[in-house]
Amino acid sequence: MAKIVLVLYDDPMDGYPTSYARDDLPQPERYPDGQTLPTPKAIDFKPGVLLGSVSGELGLRQYLESNGHQLIVTSSKDGASNVLDKELPDAEIVISQPFWPAYMTAERFAKAEKLKMIVTAGIGSDHTDLQAAMEHNVTVAEVTYCNSNAVAEHVVMSILALVRNFIPSHNWITKGGWNIADCVSRSYDLEAMNVGTVAAGRIGLRVLRLLKPFDVKLHYMDRHRLPEAVEKELDLTYHSTLESLTKVSDVVTLNCPLHPETEHMINEKTLKNFKRGAYLVNTARGKLCDRDAIVSALESGQLAGYAGDVWFPQPPANDHPWRTMPYHAMTPHISGTSLSAQARYAAGVREILECYFENRPIRNEYLIVQNGQLAGVGAHSYSKGNATGGSEEAAKFKK
Ligand code: NAD
Repeated sequence: MAKIVLVLYDDPMDGYPTSYARDDLPQPERYPDGQTLPTPKAIDFKPGVLLGSVSGELGLRQYLESNGHQLIVTSSKDGASNVLDKELPDAEIVISQPFWPAYMTAERFAKAEKLKMIVTAGIGSDHTDLQAAMEHNVTVAEVTYCNSNAVAEHVVMSILALVRNFIPSHNWITKGGWNIADCVSRSYDLEAMNVGTVAAGRIGLRVLRLLKPFDVKLHYMDRHRLPEAVEKELDLTYHSTLESLTKVSDVVTLNCPLHPETEHMINEKTLKNFKRGAYLVNTARGKLCDRDAIVSALESGQLAGYAGDVWFPQPPANDHPWRTMPYHAMTPHISGTSLSAQARYAAGVREILECYFENRPIRNEYLIVQNGQLAGVGAHSYSKGNATGGSEEAAKFKK
């Protein structure tokens, strides 16, 4: 019998939903590169219901308990007397979503003597100290591709919201105004702008494809260059450095994982290489950016706008300056946890658990760490080390 600790975000303030806005949940047949959607033997939830909050339990209870396992579900993960720390000493598997991450630090690894696997229900396993996972021979897996396209949609929405000054204009209407000049004095067309993505993996490439019909000039940098045919098809300009990309881009979007090479890659120094008045959209990870450098760049006008849904740590303190800085279009971390995406990653977690308990191999594309090494997507997209430093600050958030 294994003990599984599942850390999920809280239910809606009004309670778990009893009805939904839509009746069906259209899903793609396959992901763009041909990868299949998750293939568990069965699921015990109705696609379209809220699965990512505590009462949704990722639809896992029936499966786990009928196989004799113990499931603990909690949102309590930070600060003194949190449930996660209490349950860790005999936990075999810890599962959490990047939206409400269970920060698996070296201190927690030291407590979790029976830990064998950490599953990210979503994409992005930087909330786990990957160095400690390698040293403790703990497998880290995530549900690759489950929400990459969902995030790309959020990126395009955020770029348009910033460039066209949508949110302040919407606010004038709800305030009872008709202040056209106030709205348009910061409003531009995206057409003909230069848009650059830092990383052109699953999300970054999707962003490039979605933006192509806007008649923009597309740029990218990545440690893996795209095939020549793709560069030609999308008329892409490749940059080997961040400086070269940001010098020409009117809009910069960050789509790489957080790992020691990318932590704080956007800082006071690198922001100097941006065009004055550039827009920065970051749905990848908050810690790719230096928090205070972003605020200063918006205040000075070096950046014309900043948008995204990722913060560090999560949840961010109630007085985190990104909540109130000028010209921002921030949301809580939501882009990858639409009801559509939840159905995919809940099924993906079930697939990973079935493989684990039945001693079948977990898909290589789901692996981040295995057998003490970066593996699968982890070997392709991450570097060794730890990016969880400072995560204890999540305890500052008060509900
Ligand atoms: P992916 O593995 O397909 O792509 C990552 C790309 O980043 C790869 O092409 C890799 O070569 C590149 N890369 C890594 N280090 C780099 C560096 N130092 N410089 C330049 N490029 C580098 O992953 P993906 O599905 O595209 O997701 C990317 C990241 O987006 C995730 O790791 C996660 O942090 C974030 N994400 C956020 C959400 C959300 O809800 N906001 C959801 C999914 C993923």
